[in-house]
Amino acid sequence: MEALSSRPIVRKEATFIDMARVRGLLTDVGTPDPARVREIIAKALELHGLSLEETAVLLGTESPELLEEMFHAARTAKDSIYGRRIVLFAPLYYSNHCANDCLYCAFRRSNPRKRTKLSLEQVAAEVRALEDQGHKRVLVIAGEVTGSSSFDYLLQVIETVYATRSGRGEIRRVNVEMAPMSVEEFRRLKAARIGTYVVFQETYDPVTYERMHPSGPKRDYHWRLTAMDRAMEAGIDDVGLGVLFGLNDYREEVLAMLTHAQHLEKTFGAGPHTLSVPRLEPADGAPAAMQPPHPVSDQDFKKIVAILRLAVPYTGIILSTRETAEMRGALLDLGISQMSAGSHTEPGGYADHDGSVPQFSVGDHRTLDDVIADIAQHGYVPSFCTGCYRRGRTGRDFMDLAKPGLIRAHCLPNALVTYREYLLDYGSERTRQLGEQVIRDQIEHEVPSNRRSAVLKVLERIDAGERDIYF
Ligand code: SAM
Ligand code: SF4
Repeated sequence: MEALSSRPIVRKEATFIDMARVRGLLTDVGTPDPARVREIIAKALELHGLSLEETAVLLGTESPELLEEMFHAARTAKDSIYGRRIVLFAPLYYSNHCANDCLYCAFRRSNPRKRTKLSLEQVAAEVRALEDQGHKRVLVIAGEVTGSSSFDYLLQVIETVYATRSGRGEIRRVNVEMAPMSVEEFRRLKAARIGTYVVFQETYDPVTYERMHPSGPKRDYHWRLTAMDRAMEAGIDDVGLGVLFGLNDYREEVLAMLTHAQHLEKTFGAGPHTLSVPRLEPADGAPAAMQPPHPVSDQDFKKIVAILRLAVPYTGIILSTRETAEMRGALLDLGISQMSAGSHTEPGGYADHDGSVPQFSVGDHRTLDDVIADIAQHGYVPSFCTGCYRRGRTGRDFMDLAKPGLIRAHCLPNALVTYREYLLDYGSERTRQLGEQVIRDQIEHEVPSNRRSAVLKVLERIDAGERDIYF
C-alpha cells in the first residue's frame, strides 16, 4: 500500500539504527559503579552532551540516591540553557480517518468508531477557538490517508490556520505531525511555512514495530525511520523525533532515539530540534494501549526525561497532556521545555465536539489559563514565542546560537513579551496577578542588565496596545 505519496522504487534501507549494538551497550553496563555514574553526571554538567556509552550507564542506574543526583543535575542543566521558560502549544486534529491499524491507537482502521474529517470551515472554527484561549502555536495532526489529494488537503489546512483571525489573536507558528512523506512533499510542506516537522518512530525495535503495525502504509519501518532524512534533504531543518513509551524496553528506546539524533547531526550538521516523550495512555478499541507491553513507571519516566536533558542538553523536550497535572508539574524541573495545554485529541474538540473518537484519553484536563497559572506557581515563565522560527534562527543556525549560550538573549525577552500579551488579552485575574509577579522577578534577576531597558521598552509598547513584537 502507498504512503501519502508514491515512493521511489529503489530506496536505501536505513542502517543507522543497530538494535544489537544498543542492547550490547546496555548489557555491558551491568550494575554501574557509583563513582562512574557521578563522573558522567559531572561531565553532563559541562553541557556538551553525552556519548551513547555514557548514556547507557545512566540508563542502567537504579539507585534512588544516584537518581536524585541525576534529577538535580538535569534541573541545573535545564536552568543554565533554558532558564525558566516553558513554551506552550495546542494540537489541532483535523481528521481521525486512518489507513493504519496501530494496535495502540483509537484511530486504527479496524476500530468501528465514528470518524470525522473537518471541513476547512470547521478547521477555521477550531483555530478561532484556540486563538480565543490565547494560543499562538499549533501542531496540526491527523491519521494517515493515502493519495495525493490528502496531501493537498493538509496544505490547505495549514493555509487556513495561518489565515484565520478570531479578532483576538492569530496563530503564528504551525508545526506538523503527519505520516512520513517524499522529499518532494516535504519541499511543498516547507513552502507552506511550517515550523517543525514531527513524527514518532513509536519503537525503534523492528520486531516490536512489526507486531504493533499489522497493516497499512505504516508497516514500513524504514520509510518511517528515514522520514527525517528526507525532510532535511528537502530543507526542513527543524524536525522532532519521538518514541511511544510503553511498547518496548524504555532503555533501548532512549539509546536508539539518541542514535537517530546523532545520525541526523552527523549527516546534516544539526540534530533534531525536539524530542517527544509520549507515554501510552488508554485508548478506546486499542488493545496495546489498554495493556502496555512494557509499562513505564512514573519514576522511570522521570528518569527518561532527566537523562535526555543531560545527554542532548540543547534539544527541546516536549511533554503532552497525556500526563497528569501532577506529573507535568514534577517534569518541569527535570528538563522539559515545551508543553501542550488545554488539548483535545478528537477532530472538532475545541469548537464543536460531535462525539467523534479521541485518539487517546488525556491525563491533564485543565484549561490553558489554569496551566499558565500553575506554571507560574512552579516559578516558570510560560512562553508563546515564535521569534526564532520567524527570524530564521532554525536548524544549525539555532544550534550555533544555543551552544555558546547566545540564544538566551532572545528567548527570555521574547517569552516575557508573549507572556505579557497573554496576561493582558486572555488572563484571568488570578493568572494575571501571578504572572505579573513572575515577570517582575525575571526582569530583576534573570534578564541581563544590558538588555533590561530594551525589554522594558517593548513591554511598554505591549501595554500601549502593540502586539507581536519579537527580538
Ligand atoms: N497518524 C500519524 C502517525 O501515526 O505518525 C500522525 C500522528 S498520530 C495521530 C500521533 C501519535 O500519537 C502517534 O505517533 C503515537 O505515538 C501517539 N499515540 C497513538 N496512540 C496513543 C496512545 N494510546 N497513547 C499515547 N499516545 C498515542
Ligand atoms: Fe493512524 Fe497514527 Fe493512530 Fe497509527 S497512530 S492508527 S497511523 S493515527
